[in-house]
Amino acid sequence: MNKTLVTLKRFALAILAMAFTSTQANAFDIIAHRGASGYLPEHTLAAMAMAHAQQPDYIEQDLVLTKDDRLVVLHDIHLETVTNVEQVFPTRHRQDGRYYALDFTLAELRTLSVHERTKADGTPVFKNRYQGNGHFTIATFEEHLSSITSLNASTGQHIGLYTEIKSPGWHRAQGHDISKQVLTVLRKHNLDHADANIYVQCFSFEEIKRLRDTLNAKVKLVQLIAENSWNETPTEYDSLKTPAGILTLQNYVQGIGPWLGHVTQSTPEQPSTALAPWVVAAQQAGLVIHPYTFRTDQLPAGVSAEQLLNLIVEKWQFDGLFTDQVPPVKAFLKQQSARH
Ligand code: CA
Repeated sequence: MNKTLVTLKRFALAILAMAFTSTQANAFDIIAHRGASGYLPEHTLAAMAMAHAQQPDYIEQDLVLTKDDRLVVLHDIHLETVTNVEQVFPTRHRQDGRYYALDFTLAELRTLSVHERTKADGTPVFKNRYQGNGHFTIATFEEHLSSITSLNASTGQHIGLYTEIKSPGWHRAQGHDISKQVLTVLRKHNLDHADANIYVQCFSFEEIKRLRDTLNAKVKLVQLIAENSWNETPTEYDSLKTPAGILTLQNYVQGIGPWLGHVTQSTPEQPSTALAPWVVAAQQAGLVIHPYTFRTDQLPAGVSAEQLLNLIVEKWQFDGLFTDQVPPVKAFLKQQSARH
């Protein structure tokens, strides 16, 4: 090959590399929160399939364990807020009156019907969501995983998984190791590596450390950020939400999932859209930022859906978001790319 050709070839490769880099830098990740939960009962296979058709970048699975150590896709360790467990197994609650997925076998859980999330008084949490009478059921992690893989193949999409390990400390205190079960499934499907199209998220920093250091997880990890007062996990969130906390996190995770209410310097006395210093530190550290949760039917007071998306995408330059409603976010991004 002569010199000109070599130079041309190098030039072409450089352009190609730039093109790939800029695509990556501009990518904004839409994560379908609990499937298409704005339209169908959360985490059902139907909600997953509808989410897939809406073409997000990732579909979320929250995971809890059954009595027989099977991973099922459910947001809570409790069952009564999204199923008819009280009618089917009226005596199977614990002393606190609550029904735990961990007290039922997978076969038993499969007999339950899943409905739109309800409050303690039985009324829906979101009053304008799914109101039909369809029969939906609890499904396993592997049923979701294999279905997404199959839908990707049949539609030519590359939609990833965004899997959350729920209440790992609580599960262990009950004698069940949920993180080990998750890694077993991921390894079986060759997903426990940094390039796999999946993020694993957890609210517990203790568990994130255990996943990396003790269980040798290679998959991309995301630390979810809560408030100490939510009693989500024993993690001390106030110290994570500092630039020093971010430096520690950087050794373990590829990203953070902050609550949208946390990301600014806003105080009740002084509203502000300027990012909090620890969020800026996370961006400078190269951590991916995927805040939760954009809901068109639960917006912050006085803020429109478009204004909030403008903040998240344009002003704050976050890397993506969790949303119950994928279509309006897709529409916003399309409009935005037409403007630029
Ligand atoms: Ca979640």
